[in-house]
Amino acid sequence: MHIFKFFKRLYSSSKTNPKICIVGGGPAGFYAAQHLIKKLKNVQVDIYEKLPVPFGLVRFGVAPDHPEVKNVINTFSKTAESEQVNFIGNVNVGEDVSIKQLKDAYHIVLLTYGADKSKTFGIPGENLKNVISARNIVGWYNGTPWNSNLDMDLSGESVAVLGQGNVAIDVARILLSPIDELSKTDITQHALEKLSNSKIKKVYLIGRRGPLQAAFTIKELREMLKLKNCNTVWRKDDFSGVSELVSSLARPKKRISELMLNSLNQMGTSGSKTFYPIFFRSPLEILGDQVVEKILLGVNRLEGTDFLSSKAVMTEKREEIPCNLVITSIGYKSHQIDKDIPFDNSKGVAINENSKIEKGFYTSGWLATGPTGVILTTMGNAFGTANLILNDIEKEGLAVTLKPGFEEIEKILKVKNTQLVLWKDWLKIDKYEKLKGKHVGKPREKIIDVQEMLKVAS
Ligand SMILES: Cc1cc2nc3c(=O)[nH]c(=O)nc-3n(C[C@H](O)[C@H](O)[C@H](O)COP(=O)(O)OP(=O)(O)OC[C@H]3O[C@@H](n4cnc5c(N)ncnc54)[C@H](O)[C@@H]3O)c2cc1C
Repeated sequence: MHIFKFFKRLYSSSKTNPKICIVGGGPAGFYAAQHLIKKLKNVQVDIYEKLPVPFGLVRFGVAPDHPEVKNVINTFSKTAESEQVNFIGNVNVGEDVSIKQLKDAYHIVLLTYGADKSKTFGIPGENLKNVISARNIVGWYNGTPWNSNLDMDLSGESVAVLGQGNVAIDVARILLSPIDELSKTDITQHALEKLSNSKIKKVYLIGRRGPLQAAFTIKELREMLKLKNCNTVWRKDDFSGVSELVSSLARPKKRISELMLNSLNQMGTSGSKTFYPIFFRSPLEILGDQVVEKILLGVNRLEGTDFLSSKAVMTEKREEIPCNLVITSIGYKSHQIDKDIPFDNSKGVAINENSKIEKGFYTSGWLATGPTGVILTTMGNAFGTANLILNDIEKEGLAVTLKPGFEEIEKILKVKNTQLVLWKDWLKIDKYEKLKGKHVGKPREKIIDVQEMLKVAS
């Protein structure tokens, strides 16, 4: 956007122009902004983002070998380039500026700052060296600044991934993928170098329930089954009774169950690496002297008549699996970035009723719903939140008094010497990363260090 237009818009306050501040520049923030400006032509939306770079988990979560998922960035960029939207990066809300200050400056505050803390099992041994959360590994290969120096040893042969969701399978796939394929993606250089020297040969993907309850989706499973130089080895016993049920299953479950059964019946031995999905096991303890050596699992059986809601109940039986790295992947929770955000610490979400926290104060995305669903789910949620805001602007008279918006927040940030990264500055980072990537045959070589991002941006 042209700089003149940016300032003209910032400093032309009008009674009738609702000023909306969004905290968090991930999918929820961008989709909410997109819907707000589409439906209300005089609305001004400012998106404050903690990092100097936009897009949240689309940049830092989505696997590097899934570039097609990142195409949503094109839609987000169109939104950011609208005259009605400002992207203001490198502003850590809760530290650089408070929620109270934002509420004073804007008619409406919408929180979409996601869920960036990992849930833990709370079992003995979880603090041993080489027990690492999937989120940190994802951050390491995707360029999250605070994960760049991840202390992870890949010199052992065997890895246990605890959890069977798509993030768990993403991590398993990256650890088992041929390097020449990863090297064509936007995976970070430090991850690529370390993975080139990895000695990993076996990855166990361990879940507490059975194949019919598995959380991974068919696309991700198919990718594992097609992985070069890698065999998938199932346990026959895990599938007892499954084939009898298949015909009665609803279509998506039926298709994934058939795929698992076909793969079970065609297990081969070629390939130097092996992927072992293991069902009906819950971790009890991670064992080792300082460093992980093995994992103790409880054997489960299912209880309940409906297979989807059936519960895993642990039996007396135990199993040990030797492993050199344990990756925990059982989901995320959010945290309270400011005391003025009503927060449910047990659920790890901002307290809200269908996105509304209180008059003029809203939340959307993973912060509001908890960390479930894909980008499309987040989009639906954000559009719903935007509709609610649009209704409330009318119904509750949210934008009747004059508010300064960014003009006021800019003063606060200036005193703190915060270097703002506006959209035009992000475009410099974007260009630099793409150019750096081009030299090494990658779509992009991400800048990892925040100071370097700021330098390129300025
Ligand atoms: C590892 C992983 C892989 C995934 N892969 C896929 C996939 O392949 N396909 C798919 O459809 N979905 C995928 N998802 C799900 C998808 O990423 C989410 O649905 C979506 O990102 C949630 O959007 P959000 O805006 O709520 O949160 P986020 O994407 O987390 O965005 C939140 C933003 O808020 C910012 N923020 C945090 N704190 C502050 C603060 N104090 N001040 C200002 N800003 C702040 C963050 O930096 C971030 O940019 C994946 C999720 C994970 C965890």
